[in-house]
Amino acid sequence: MTSVGTQPALAPYAADDSRSRGRVHPEAPPEWRGEFQRDRDRIIHSNAFRRLVYKTQVFVNHEGDLYRTRVTHSMEVAQIARTIARALGLHETLTEAICLAHDLGHTPFGHAGQDALNECMREYGGFEHNLQSLRVVDLLEERYAEFPGLNLCFETREGILKHCSAANARTLGALGERFLQRRQPGLEAQLANLADAIAYNNHDVDDGLRAGLIETEALCELALFGRAHAEVRRQYPQLTGRRVIHETIRRMINRVVADVITTSAAQIAAAAPRDIDAVRELPRPLVTMSEAVHAEHQELKRFLNEALYRHYRVLRMTNKARRVLKELFAVLLEDPDLLPGEHRAAAAQAEQSGGKAARARVVADYVAGMTDRYAIVEHRRLFNPDARS
Ligand code: MG
Repeated sequence: MTSVGTQPALAPYAADDSRSRGRVHPEAPPEWRGEFQRDRDRIIHSNAFRRLVYKTQVFVNHEGDLYRTRVTHSMEVAQIARTIARALGLHETLTEAICLAHDLGHTPFGHAGQDALNECMREYGGFEHNLQSLRVVDLLEERYAEFPGLNLCFETREGILKHCSAANARTLGALGERFLQRRQPGLEAQLANLADAIAYNNHDVDDGLRAGLIETEALCELALFGRAHAEVRRQYPQLTGRRVIHETIRRMINRVVADVITTSAAQIAAAAPRDIDAVRELPRPLVTMSEAVHAEHQELKRFLNEALYRHYRVLRMTNKARRVLKELFAVLLEDPDLLPGEHRAAAAQAEQSGGKAARARVVADYVAGMTDRYAIVEHRRLFNPDARS
């Protein structure tokens, strides 16, 4: 019999609420929900999740209302992953929880922000956004009387920590082990990771075309887009405008999703892991694209990298963003008395116990937590003599 909140027909290799490796702070089981449902709900109720509304994916939040932000990106990742989770008999709710939380630690201004903060923190242990997502759910959220953070299950935290340097992995106990031993996380975590890449490759085509930074003609040279686009033209010769683009993108997503399902199902059948621990022992992930589709996916990714992420208009934006974050960090690290109340107290306390590196970490937490628009306003307050402070 399945327990409350567990989807039916869970495969033996799926994560299972009733056999979770548990929470750091032990809690009574939820009355009406499964453990992973509770995790998903805690993520949605968190402050960090709401802030994703105003954090950049590629285009800075104020550039237009139709572009993806980190919250709509996270929802698209979850939606793609849930389809695949169901088809493979994996735990759909755990998959959803990991996807919704995967970017909680992201800085304002997308990857430019993450790179800038990493440079700022170089002498103090660096800044990794995956590790920051874990910090948010383990420590920074303040919602519950009994523990800091959200106290999520091991399986959810395992999925959130997609990548991690060896140095940081050594400080994380059981959660860091797989990075040192080159083992795998559970299949739900593998899936969330892959769905992230599928989601952004496809929605960035849509956003890039809308912004006029990339052209349909150039995209037609790429296998994944070109084939789907030709199919739409053949089937609907009269169709024009945005409906052609959206029909194309939905076919691209379909092709990759179908490929992940059939490829992964075959790999799972061949490896026949008896449970999630057997999955973790394997040297390679089982949830993947086929080699052929992976090559097409990579071709599109390379194109986006060159044509979109390195477009001069995007670079101008990311250059400004990098400067804003670096200047914010520098001035707040130099003089933590400029931090608002509770952050100022946290910085003073951290400095006492851990010196300048600990003070820098509090400043990084504060800056990383900012939304795009908050960072812009805070920068103005700190640097523009005419702005109200
Ligand atoms: Mg992402």
